[in-house]
Amino acid sequence: LMLLTRKLIEVRNILKDIDHESDQLTLPSIVVIGSQSSGKSSVLEAIVGHEFLPKGNNMVTRRPIELTLIHTPAQPGRAAIKDTLVEYAEFPGLGLGRITDFSHVQKTLYDLNMAVPAAECVSDEPIELRIHSPHVPDLTLIDLPGYVQIASMDQPDELRERIQTLCQKYIQEPNIILAVCAADVDLANSPALRASRQVDPLGLRTIGVVTKMDLVPPEVGAAILSNNKYPLSLGYVGVVCKSSLGMFQSAQGHDRAGQGRMASMVTKQESDYFNANREHFKAPARGRNAGVEPMTGTDTLRRRLMTVLEESMGSSLHGIANAVQVELEEASYQFKVQYNDRTITAESYAAETMDALKLRFNQFAAHFGKPEVRALLKHALDEKVMDILAQMYWSDARTPELAQLADARKLAPDQLDKYWQYKLDASSSALTKAGIGRMSTQLVVDAIRTQIEHLARSEPFNHHPEAAERIVAFSSAILRERFGLTADQVENCVKPFKYEVEVEPAEWEAGRQRSVSLVERELDMCDAAFNGIKKLLGGRRLKGAMEYVTHMEERERRRVQARLRAREESADASTDDADDDSNDPTRPDYNSALLIKAREALFLSERSRMLRTRLGSLRSRRCKSGPETKAFCPETFLNIVAEKLTYTAVMFINIELLAEFFYQFPREIDAKLMHHLDADQLKAFARENPAVKKHLDLQTRKQKLEHVAGVIGDLVKVYKQKNTASRWAF
Ligand code: GDP
Repeated sequence: LMLLTRKLIEVRNILKDIDHESDQLTLPSIVVIGSQSSGKSSVLEAIVGHEFLPKGNNMVTRRPIELTLIHTPAQPGRAAIKDTLVEYAEFPGLGLGRITDFSHVQKTLYDLNMAVPAAECVSDEPIELRIHSPHVPDLTLIDLPGYVQIASMDQPDELRERIQTLCQKYIQEPNIILAVCAADVDLANSPALRASRQVDPLGLRTIGVVTKMDLVPPEVGAAILSNNKYPLSLGYVGVVCKSSLGMFQSAQGHDRAGQGRMASMVTKQESDYFNANREHFKAPARGRNAGVEPMTGTDTLRRRLMTVLEESMGSSLHGIANAVQVELEEASYQFKVQYNDRTITAESYAAETMDALKLRFNQFAAHFGKPEVRALLKHALDEKVMDILAQMYWSDARTPELAQLADARKLAPDQLDKYWQYKLDASSSALTKAGIGRMSTQLVVDAIRTQIEHLARSEPFNHHPEAAERIVAFSSAILRERFGLTADQVENCVKPFKYEVEVEPAEWEAGRQRSVSLVERELDMCDAAFNGIKKLLGGRRLKGAMEYVTHMEERERRRVQARLRAREESADASTDDADDDSNDPTRPDYNSALLIKAREALFLSERSRMLRTRLGSLRSRRCKSGPETKAFCPETFLNIVAEKLTYTAVMFINIELLAEFFYQFPREIDAKLMHHLDADQLKAFARENPAVKKHLDLQTRKQKLEHVAGVIGDLVKVYKQKNTASRWAF
């Protein structure tokens, strides 16, 4: 049984995936070199039994082809015609699946070669090709670009060098060199032999293949094979394998009665030739090669390759076994130290990630309930109230009257000037009709979005931009879906407040206290801003500038009044003293930036005075007495309106938006993230995280080494038991 080579080819392919520093981990394969037109392709095709290599006058092999031949036992009793069932090629790197039409293989190889840019000449990156067939032995062959003999126009010197470098890389130990030379070219001129002699002077791992035997007289051919001129320990094999149309069909025809053994791929042409010249290729009776028959024919070559490869692999076995053991120990140690032997899978990582996301989401949900939404909305509405107060009351010069009226205690609220009644209604409307539904919903939606974006940006989703995007996208979709409904609900429910707001005495005092502290805060901010300017300009300078601005404003006011009066009294002109600048406190160094600041400071000090008055009023007994004083205390009343709006909004936002979102989000994680990914995508997802990728890589490496160590361990046992040279199943 061809166990060893076959198993070791498997091992070789596994080891190839493991990046390793140790050269010891490389198992030998057969490297095919030869000059262009030496018949290299023809030999390979004869071995495989199919025409599959691209042909052309121009050099077409630009990348190494790593050809793995895998022997699949023919099914007994089945006609050769059914070979297509078990005979196929595949490109593991391309994922094209099984290819049974070998012209398709040829086309694919052609395309892959042509994809190498002309400027690059050749590429180091091998093409992997596997051929499964009952007609092939288990072998690994590497086809390399043919040596260029003569530099020509379209094959520059550079190409020659690059091919040499590439071949040089592959013909190193432990590989076996298949040096292809044409019989009609002097061996002394064979670039393949020349290259092999440099790395393998004794020819211990070089097999010579002499092609085109039919082109020289048989005695000349036989002389070459006699291995006298350039001796190789592994010898020369002579072949005739000119590819011609129909060659392989006829070969298969011969094998109808194949008896489950590998089909003989000797072409008729080849067997005819060696049969016709049998007496030249007999074992010589005398001399160095007495009794040794020269090796001829593709079949012989194939057997020779199998033997040599198996022997070579056999002798590599112990070295490999040790090297694998060393690597395995190292990998196991690292795995223990770094990961405490914890095995992960892409699935487990993804599941953990999703669980972590849900957990963090739940934490957010727990801290973003009614009280938080309430605080959020109340704050926004308080600000809105402050704006309305500033606009309606605090910048109205009559407002201080309210305090006096309130203090006077004389006036009943309904005796109050209609002006104040109206003002209060307008302010309340400005608040209730501000679009509370949309505003409050938007506020909460924005807060949720910010939080989700934060979740999607933080570890480990920073490694998974696509998943992060998806999270943001489906959250936005839920929020968008709930937005309209929620906003409408809220708007509907605050509708009564647009007509009337009833305030209970119990609510009033709480509202009053809240409004006092809000106005206090406003006053603090106002004073702080004023002091800021004062600090910037210096107290004296600011005072001067403020006096100047006041004076100028006063003068302007007087001038306007005078002009109006003049217009009334119809053109009794120029009586005003406004042009008298003599008592003007102008200082020439007041620039416009300074004056702007001064105006601001003026405004702030007026506002500050106003707020103090208002505070006094809000703290007054009159205001404390109850809701019927609302027109005197707009700050308190509006605060209570805002409170009611908030309460209503929170109630509906909680039901329509929050509860829905908190329910749907975790379900969307499962539907849109987890179940959305197939096995490959899951793998890709896990590997996006560098730490996980490292973990997975080491784990895979360890597993592969364990597998390989197991296979090799078994082989070492078998090899020890049956250490005989030929165990072929053919
Ligand atoms: P490569 O460039 O080394 O791959 O060479 P090919 O296999 O393409 O062969 C070059 C040419 O030599 C082709 O025209 C083949 O048909 C021809 N050739 C290959 N082997 C033989 C052979 O054994 N006998 C004869 N007469 N021609 C051959």
